[in-house]
Parts: sequence; structure tokens; C-alpha cells
Amino acid sequence: MTKNNSADGELKRVEVTFPFILIRTKKGLSIIERIGRLGLIKKLGWVLLYVFPIVAAIGFYLILNTVVAFISTAALRDFARGITPLANLLIPGINPYLPIFYGWIALIIAIIVHEGAHGILARSLGIPVKSSGMILLLVFPIGAFVDVDEKELRKAKARDSGRVLAAGPGSNIIAALIALFGLLLILGSMTPIVNGVGVVGIVQDSPAQKAGISLNDIIIRVDGVDVSSTSDFNDALKLYGAGETVDLTFERDGKTLNHILTLPNGPVIVGFWQDFPAKQAGIQLEDIIMNLNGIRVSSSNELDEVLSTMKPGDTITLAIERRETLMNFTMALASHPQNSSLPVLGVLLTDPSESHGIRPVGLADILNGYRDFGSTSPVIYLLLPTLAPYNVPFSDVMVNFYTSSLGYALHPLANLLFWVWFISINLAIFNALPIYPLDGGQAFRVLLQAVGKNRLSERTIKRITGGVTIAMVSLVVLMLAVPYL
Ligand SMILES: [Zn+2]
Repeated sequence: MTKNNSADGELKRVEVTFPFILIRTKKGLSIIERIGRLGLIKKLGWVLLYVFPIVAAIGFYLILNTVVAFISTAALRDFARGITPLANLLIPGINPYLPIFYGWIALIIAIIVHEGAHGILARSLGIPVKSSGMILLLVFPIGAFVDVDEKELRKAKARDSGRVLAAGPGSNIIAALIALFGLLLILGSMTPIVNGVGVVGIVQDSPAQKAGISLNDIIIRVDGVDVSSTSDFNDALKLYGAGETVDLTFERDGKTLNHILTLPNGPVIVGFWQDFPAKQAGIQLEDIIMNLNGIRVSSSNELDEVLSTMKPGDTITLAIERRETLMNFTMALASHPQNSSLPVLGVLLTDPSESHGIRPVGLADILNGYRDFGSTSPVIYLLLPTLAPYNVPFSDVMVNFYTSSLGYALHPLANLLFWVWFISINLAIFNALPIYPLDGGQAFRVLLQAVGKNRLSERTIKRITGGVTIAMVSLVVLMLAVPYL
């Protein structure tokens, strides 16, 4: 609800406070008036009034839970710092995870629903609505307002003003659930183009790239064996050793193709320990270890076996394959920081069977995660396609791997519904918190007035409302600040 303390009576139709433009429309008022006359609205108002404290309680629980989780888990604090505090704002363009287009549309829908519902409930209970309209930033709509007569609302019975206030967050909950239901229908209509493993990433110059595999290919067989999940794919490759070839069958643009993947000739270097011999000797990332002191090593286990016969300080020669050329490096073995008798090179390795360079995603798996109601956490429905693209079947990267009866409408519809669901539920929860002058804070005050009739003075009511507001705001600030403490 917007507050408007400015002059009553004559209201200008268009007000410009550059770069904001306010447009009041009579049309909005007449729509509100007409819907408000429906008999159903008063009953719905009661339902939303009872839902209101539940939404506020859920919001309070979520915030408290987040604060506790941040305090107890360092990894969560790191994660929160990684995604920046801007990710807490529901403003597309500022929050890096809200898509500009779908985000704006969803936010505008949520605000119109919210403000409209306040107005409709007010009219159904005979409380005047002074004006309504849109707020534009230059030409872009950024909000809507419905100006319910504050004085009349104050004079109204607690159960009436309570219903008007509850209508905002409550209508957002209804819109959110409708959007979620639509999204679930869409997810139900989706199937993988073929059952297999989608290639969502390819490492530059990796065996996969050399074999001609590319992004968006769907691998269906590994040497004739069907693979339909990420673990199928990884398990199938584990059977192959250094330098062996694997026949991959995959689907690309409706055609089934076969390419031969050749695994590296030994374990591949994927990282270093700082200030340890391997890095200091000039070994580089992607180098392949071929042999140690002339002994062939074709896996990290074999390397460990050879190393276990040696001790720190021993000088060794490592044969490395770098871009198809063989090179020798001589170095003295260091001792392990935790066990000084253990000799180490200071490298991180992957075995040949893991060094193909393909990032695989089981196409049926991530879809099933959304469909198995009981077994998956409901949090999955809040997973942002922008933050976890490989886990969300309708994200920009994953949507290409699926078909649906919706055809090209699949991606825009799924994303729009997701963002309407996400933004509406967040808007509802935040506005329901007992923070004055948000809807929840105003309703809290109305509740105190009703409960404390003749017992609490207007001043005491103001103090309690103010105290609860300060406590709630502090909790929200704490949630935002803890990752940085
Ligand atoms: Zn509101």
C-alpha cells in the first residue's frame, strides 16, 4: 500500500519527478471496483487473513534459520560472500541472478497483483480508494500503486483493515502457487530429446575436443553400452586405462554419430601445491606423467606405488608428455606436510579415465528431481536457473536437451512462470514480516489495537510496534552481515 499524505481532492493524472513518472488511471479504479463487488472476495479476504500470520512465521523462521546456518557453517558464509549481498535484492539488473527481462515482468506482475488486491479488498468492504496507477522509470514500468484512504482504513474495524492488509501478501502467495503449478505442468511435459548424457562443458584441447565432441551433444552409448546418467557415464569410462580408445555414440541435431575418444597416456596434472618440487621444476598444468625413473606409470595409483619405495630428499626423473612431446624433469622429492617420512611431488592428478574433458549431465536425472515429490527437498523449486544452470532443466544451458509439446514456447514460458513464482513468494514473505510500515507491521499494530482495546494506550501500542520493527530489522541486517563478520 502506498502512503499519500499530499493534498486530497484534485489529483493530477500525470506527475513527473524526473526520471520517475506517475500515471493515475481511472480504468484501474473501475476494474478494482468491479472485482471488489464479487461476493467471493470477502470470503477470500478471511482466508488470506488467517494465512497472513503463517506467512510471517515462515519468513521469520527462514531468516532465523539462515542466521544460525551462517554462524555455524563457514562454507555457507563463503558461498554468501561469493554470490554478493546484491543477491538479496529483488531488483533485476542489480541482483546479478535475476534476469532483466523475465525478472522485470515477474516483478511488475507481483506488484500489480499485490497493490490491486489491497484495493479490491478495500472496495469490497466499503473503504474508499483514492487513486491507482503505474510508476514508470522513464518509459519502463517499475511499480504500481493503489491508494487506499488511510484515514478511513484507520477508522475501520480491525478485522476489516486486517483483511485489506493481508490481501497484498496473500494475493502474492496465490499468484506464486498458480505459477508454480503451471511450471510443474511444463516440467511434466518435458522429455530428453534422447535418453542420455548431455555435454554441458568441454575442456579446451582435451581428448573430447580432439575427438570432435561438442557442446549440446547427447552421449547415448560408451563402447556400445547405454548410458543415461552421469554415474553411468563415469562408471563406463572407469573400465578404460591410459592411452585406450573409447567409442562414443552420440546424438547431434537429430543424427546419431560415432567418434573415437583417445584417453591420455598417463595421469594428468590438474593442480599444484605451492612451493613444492613439481611446480618449481617447471611442470605445467595438463602435463601427462609417463614414467618415474624409467618405470612406466599409467595411473595415480601406480605413481603412488613407485613413490612409496622412495623417501623425501631422493632425486628423481619424471618423464612428461606435453603437447605430444616427451620431456624430462629432475627434482628432489619433498616431505609431506603432515607426515615427514612420506615423499611427495606436490601435484594434483586425475586418472586417464577421468581426463576426457567432458562435463556430463544425466538428462533424465535432473528432470526426475523435480517430479519425485516425496523424495526431493522442496527447496529444488527455488533453485535459480541462473545460479545452478546444470541442475535446472529449463535453464538456458539445459533447455536445448529437452523437447516438449510446447515447442519454442517452452523456454520463455517455463522461465516466466519460475520467476513469477520466485519473486511473488519472496515479496509475500518479506511484506508479511512485522516491520512497520510494511503490511505485516501495520497488521501487527491493528492486532495490538484489537487485542489491547481499553488496556493498551495508543502510545504503548506505538512503542511495542516500534520495538518489534527494530528487532525484526536487526535480524534481517544480521542475516546480511554475518557472512562478512
Ligand atoms: Zn502491501
